Parts: sequence; C-alpha cells; structure tokens
Amino acid sequence: MTQRITPGQIKKNNRQQIYNYIYEQGNVSQQAIAYALKLSRPTVATNLSALEEDGLICKNGQLESDQIGRKAVAYAIVADYRIAIGVEIMRHVVKLIAVDLYGRKLRRDVAEIEYRNAEGYYERVSDMIRTFIAALNVPLERVLGIGIAMQGLVSSDGRAMVYGKILDCTGLRVDAFEKWLDYPCSFIHDPAGAAISELWVSPELEDAVYLSLSRHLGGAFIMNRQIDNGRHGHSATYEHVQAQPRGELCYCGKRGCWDTLCSMKALIGNDNPDAFFEAARREGTDEALRWQRYLKYLARLIEDIHLLTDVEIILGGHLAPYLTEGDIRVLYGEIHRLCPFDDADDYIRISKMPSHNITVGAALPYIRRFLEDIDA
Ligand SMILES: [Zn+2]
Repeated sequence: MTQRITPGQIKKNNRQQIYNYIYEQGNVSQQAIAYALKLSRPTVATNLSALEEDGLICKNGQLESDQIGRKAVAYAIVADYRIAIGVEIMRHVVKLIAVDLYGRKLRRDVAEIEYRNAEGYYERVSDMIRTFIAALNVPLERVLGIGIAMQGLVSSDGRAMVYGKILDCTGLRVDAFEKWLDYPCSFIHDPAGAAISELWVSPELEDAVYLSLSRHLGGAFIMNRQIDNGRHGHSATYEHVQAQPRGELCYCGKRGCWDTLCSMKALIGNDNPDAFFEAARREGTDEALRWQRYLKYLARLIEDIHLLTDVEIILGGHLAPYLTEGDIRVLYGEIHRLCPFDDADDYIRISKMPSHNITVGAALPYIRRFLEDIDA
C-alpha cells in the first residue's frame, strides 16, 4: 500500500523546511527561500507571516534584490526563541552555561561547590541553576531543558548513572535534580558532551574517536555523526584498557589502565598546567622529559585506537589547548614505529572547541531536537 502524504503533513513540512533554511542562511529574503526550496512565493509568504507571528523568526534589515534599486526584506530566526542549559558537575566545581539556538553562549557561571552524593547538594545546585535561569531574563517557557554532564557512564535514556566511581554516584537518578527544577533534565557522560560540541562545530565530521585528555581520561565514539554508546553504555572507555599489568592502581580497581598513564593527573598531578608547559617547552627540564614520556604513552594509546577503529582521532579535553603541531608530529613519528600499516599522517587532530565544550555539549541535544521539529 502506498502511503499518501496528507495536506497537513505537507504544510508542516514546508514550515519546517523554511525555518531550517532561514536558520542555515542566517539572513535571507523571501525570494531566495522560494527559489532554493522550489516553493511558490505565496506559500513562502504565508509561512513567513505565520512563523513571524509565532515568534520564531523576525525581519532583520534589508538585502539587495535582483531588481535594481529595490531592496528585499531579510528574515532571520529569533535565536533565543528557545534556549538550553548545560551543567557540568565536577568534584570541586559546578559549571553552568545557557546557549541559544545556534549553540552560542548567552551566559556562563562557575561556582566552587564540593560534590556530595546527598540531597542537600542536589538542592543547592538546583537552586543555583534556578537563579542562573532567572538572571537570563527570558520567559521560562523558552528553556527547553537542562543537560547535566557527569564524570561517569550514563544509561541510554540519560536518566541514571550506571558507573560513577570518580564521584561515587553509581545508581544516581536524574530525579535528584529534576524534583527541584521545572524543566526536563538528563545526564550525559562528559566526553560525550565534548564530542557533541565537536560535531556541532565540525560539519564535515563523520566517524571519529574523541579522546578527552583531562584530569581523567575519557572517550566517545562518533559513528555517522552520532555518539555510539555501545550495547552496555561503555563504548570507547579506553581509559580502563590495561596498558601495564603491574602499573599504578586505577580508580576502577585494576592496575595500569591508560588513565594511570595518559590522564592529566598522571602527567602533572595537582600542578598548574600553565606552569608545567612553560617548563616543558624548555629543553633539558624535568618537565620536558615527563612530556616526552607522556607523548610516547599517548602515541601507544592512539595507535591502539587507530588499529581498532581506523577513524579520525580528535584530541580534546583540558590538555588540548597545550598541544602543538610539533607534538602531533612526535605522535605520528612514534606511531609509525608501532603501526604495521603505512598510513598517511591524516587522522589525528586537535579539538576545534576546547573551551566550554562539555557544558555546551550537554545543552545541545535539546537544541538539536527542537531544530528537528519546531512544532513538537
Ligand atoms: Zn581503570
């Protein structure tokens, strides 16, 4: 049986398409929309009026038109028609960000609050989120939801922590926050948040492993521009692959996991990274030696990932801003010694979005869902 598209669906589809086109173009005339989407001028005009009346788009200046001497009205989306909140929970700090429909930062806040897996903590952080939202001065219905990035593995529905040894929060449910807040909340594994941000700023990205080099190591596997969590939610947890059976004790209970060799904690402990790299870039210092040793471990880790996945590998996390092209050449040099295949040096790259990436990435799934269906 062939399925017929109803007039209602065509109408909805036109409205969505026109909105998406304006979103992508930034500023566009009615004529250009009609031409690009092969829709009649009256259809476009009716939709523009409706979208404008609903508050989703606005007139935004004028554009040169084909007809000499005549200017056309430009349309743009109302970027804060909907917003989303991203939260990052860390042991000593809570970070908040609000983003608009382009994923741009509207406001950011950071507070030093010690994590405790206790009711009082969730109430206090929820209070902070409510105050933060109030300070945005936008109608509350504009807030789509709150994504909360956690250091641990999250259930596929984003409702529970299935493995949270760093913060000792295994089993925590997102209700702990949601009960204090009037918005939908969801958990996200922090490297997945970072990978989502990377996808947002990298339209060409298809398949990749995002390696988060922060105080702890983390990873996310990107397949067809989606985060692949795996069957049990622990895809790309390279941090617990054992590299040295008699190595340092990892927080997971095993010895010599990659986290004990390639995390920033392994590299600098509690030292200041700026000071460390200032010294590491000078020849003959202890820090330079430590850095060279670290790069050798990192090359082995990258080579393991490269052999198993053969996709692009993005180096992100707090270490990423310190990485240089010279470091990447050192990594490739090491990998060539290890790799049985003579691959081109074309698969390692430094993250394009090193700052606020986890909080922004926690918020973006709400934005993306809205953009996929503006009338949902
Ligand atoms: Zn481990």
